[in-house]
Amino acid sequence: MRTARVLLDASTRSLARPLDYRVPDDLVGDVAVGAPVLVPLRERRAVGYVVSFDPPEVTEGLKDIVAVLGEPRFDSERWSLASWIADEYACRPIEALRLLLPPGSAHRLVKTADGWRLEAPAVSPAMERIVELTDPTYRLQPTAVRQRAILDALRSGPLRISELRASIGEVGNALRVLESRGVVSIVERRRWRSATTGLAREDPSHALTECQSGAVEAILAAEPGTTVVIDGVTGSGKTEVYMRAIDAFLRAGRQAIVLVPEISLTPQTVGRFRARFGANLAVLHSRLSDGERLDQWQLVASGEARIVIGARSALFAPATDLGIIVIDEEHEPSYKQSSEPRYHARDVAREIARRTGAVLVLGSATPSLETLHAARSRQATLVSLPQRATGASLPDVAVVDMTDEFASGNRSMFSRTLVAAMDRTFQRRGKAVLYINRRGYATFVLCRECGFVPTCQSCSVSLTYHETSTRLQCHHCGLVEQLPVACPRCSSPYLRRFGTGTQRVEAEVLKRWPEVPVLRMDADTTAGKGGHERILAAFESMPFGALIGTQMIAKGLDYPDIELVGVVDADTSMRFPDFRSTERTYQLLMQVSGRAGRSARPGLVVVQTYWPDHPAVQAMRTGDRDAFVASELSQRHELRYPPFGRLARILVSAPAAETAAAHAKAIADAVRSSVPPSWEVLGPTTPAISRLKKLFRQHIIIKGEPGAPLGSALWRAVAAVGGRPGTKVSIDVDPYDML
Ligand code: ADP
Ligand code: ZN
Ligand code: ZN
Repeated sequence: MRTARVLLDASTRSLARPLDYRVPDDLVGDVAVGAPVLVPLRERRAVGYVVSFDPPEVTEGLKDIVAVLGEPRFDSERWSLASWIADEYACRPIEALRLLLPPGSAHRLVKTADGWRLEAPAVSPAMERIVELTDPTYRLQPTAVRQRAILDALRSGPLRISELRASIGEVGNALRVLESRGVVSIVERRRWRSATTGLAREDPSHALTECQSGAVEAILAAEPGTTVVIDGVTGSGKTEVYMRAIDAFLRAGRQAIVLVPEISLTPQTVGRFRARFGANLAVLHSRLSDGERLDQWQLVASGEARIVIGARSALFAPATDLGIIVIDEEHEPSYKQSSEPRYHARDVAREIARRTGAVLVLGSATPSLETLHAARSRQATLVSLPQRATGASLPDVAVVDMTDEFASGNRSMFSRTLVAAMDRTFQRRGKAVLYINRRGYATFVLCRECGFVPTCQSCSVSLTYHETSTRLQCHHCGLVEQLPVACPRCSSPYLRRFGTGTQRVEAEVLKRWPEVPVLRMDADTTAGKGGHERILAAFESMPFGALIGTQMIAKGLDYPDIELVGVVDADTSMRFPDFRSTERTYQLLMQVSGRAGRSARPGLVVVQTYWPDHPAVQAMRTGDRDAFVASELSQRHELRYPPFGRLARILVSAPAAETAAAHAKAIADAVRSSVPPSWEVLGPTTPAISRLKKLFRQHIIIKGEPGAPLGSALWRAVAAVGGRPGTKVSIDVDPYDML
């Protein structure tokens, strides 16, 4: 008896695992791994994908596959990767598999007179008709004006009908005549839709610096399946290194995937690759139409495109001959998907590289501590690019202690240093960028006189201020404290909730410098398609002035004429209640400062803070990153945070607070009794965001050793507890958001 394992395309948790079916004799030839099939499910019919031919767990009572509904959509290797993702990140295998299915795979089952049919959404290939001159010697009647125009146009090469029509006008009749006489031939071929054609930017290939050559050599010499870290300051020419290495892989007949953060996937970035690699390039990102996405995907699958550039999910493009995966700005938290499947593109890329023998290149000016630790423990090769490729110097850094400003009577949001620097910049008709940190909902309390911030001793995160209860809480371990009336350190009554809005900063700039043009970039002003690019373009073309914005501006700004960067409130990111906040602060400070002085004029960065001794500020000021990394890593080690431990969070949300608490408690108990004793289970506690979209939230945090199989263990524990109507449970392995 032939049997097949079928993964149902259903969203029920109870049907998450593949089921066994019998393959009837007449379908044996068509049932292949990846094929969509119709199967009986209880009294109904369901669609699924054949995932393997492993022997069934039980042989009795197996039902027959009813029909094969199409060509295979994936192979065993891709299914194996999907299973790995599902186990690793505790998601349903079908969710993981959807990452790997071609666009347009979502479908409906439709009953027809003679059986069942899969109805795909309206995504179909686009065609175009090309006219070619086949008999250039043909003599036309002198009166055939239109025919002559067509032949003249075709003498320099084949053209699309649409192009002929654009230059000549209606050509239908004339073409029919010419075709019938064998003068021209018209062929129909696939038209590849792309959202980025015509964006090629001038990008001369530079003679590599010595450091760049070393980096390219390191990549080309790397063992298959291993990781190379390119640790290069902003402007050190990392992109040039990637392009050279990719070029070498391409010439060896291999394919390449390049991931950049969604926000950096600008016409500027894509244009540089387009200019270098032309039609070899496919682009995948979330703003493509379904048709464009299908075409870009198929360009890769057919091997016509040898390079894919895109955001996180481009990692799953169907490259069959993958030689190199590049992840630029590898430290970016956006590589972690925040909805199911909650995978981290860097870690999945490492797995793909391991499986395919591709080389993984991780580039950043501020590599993540995880990546630096991997390099130190010889799990990756590290290459440094310490200088800017153009020879421009890194900007000067001025750190302003805002408690001093407060003490000397300056209650404004701008220090005297920053005001003076802006005066100078605007007088010289230069450009300034003011950076305001805003992240999520978390608020903390800060003493404006001494900079004191209440923190949790055992978790080393800032306590979060809860507006409704006016209490402070640690959202990791649940510690609750009353909000003090005066600062516990210096007794000052100036304890304030912290956080400045972009609009307030804009108003202040307009008040002080009414003649200076100001642009603001935040979630409000960039809403809608292309909002981000529109503001960047306006800033580029503006002769002088200021750009005010949130972390959005830290990326994608590659204009040589920014003289001054002001970090208005470095504290917001320092105090963000997360164990990565120190690292994030350092990365953000380095990133924003990398925007200053990319050209001949030296740049200046002014950092305003109530905590001038913060390790990230110190590291930025002294340039001693090694000391910073060593001290951060030793703290992480002490608290078993990544990379010395592995975290997961289980979030429970329900319409009633009691339900959320009871269900979270049941899950926590199940987890405690089933996981190894070496794992720590914290909670359930109330997270910093205690209520979201009318649901009350509780979470449980689990700490295991590095590489611990948290995903599969937690999945089992949660499944054992079972669901509860109206209550949502999500498991996040390697979480980046624990609010
Ligand atoms: P990164 O990706 O490290 O920020 P880029 O690759 O964007 O750096 O390079 C920064 C600038 O330096 C770009 O304008 C690029 O054209 C230029 N550049 C890169 N390599 C060289 C080189 N070897 N010589 C001169 N200029 C270079
Ligand atoms: Zn104080
Ligand atoms: Zn705590």
